Amino acid sequence: MGIVISVDCDSCGYGQGFDVDVGDLFIPTVDNLIENFLNKRKSSELLKIIEGEMVKECDFYYGLFICDKCETLQRRLHYSLKFMARDEFHSEHNCSKCRRKLREIELNGIKLDGTEFFGTELNNIETLNRLNCRCRSCGMRPLIYIDNILWD
Ligand SMILES: [Zn+2]
Ligand SMILES: [Zn+2]
Repeated sequence: MGIVISVDCDSCGYGQGFDVDVGDLFIPTVDNLIENFLNKRKSSELLKIIEGEMVKECDFYYGLFICDKCETLQRRLHYSLKFMARDEFHSEHNCSKCRRKLREIELNGIKLDGTEFFGTELNNIETLNRLNCRCRSCGMRPLIYIDNILWD
């Protein structure tokens, strides 16, 4: 089970769908992250970070982010690592339009367990509407809604 955040603009007709989460398809390990999700550059960055370290915990998912400057929504693969002997590492992401650092939107129950999602759907729609995000194409306020999708 996964969900899609859909953004549809009445003003210009532009529509976008963000499928967040990676469901149960992948066990969140460093190997899976590197082999299936990161490009060459990101992989070697990560390998440098974990070199000589004991990784205690790895987590990754497709999350929803907003740019506080242009106010568009963007999807990014978020990953974080916990180590035995040093501080946690969190991936950082920049807006593809204005390069500003993106802020993650906290949605209840979406991260890695889609089954929790149903109970919190209304909260999430409220959260998304409070963001007042803008259409990527024309800058007007689009309509946001949530679709549940089945993965098999
Ligand atoms: Zn931006
Ligand atoms: Zn538009």
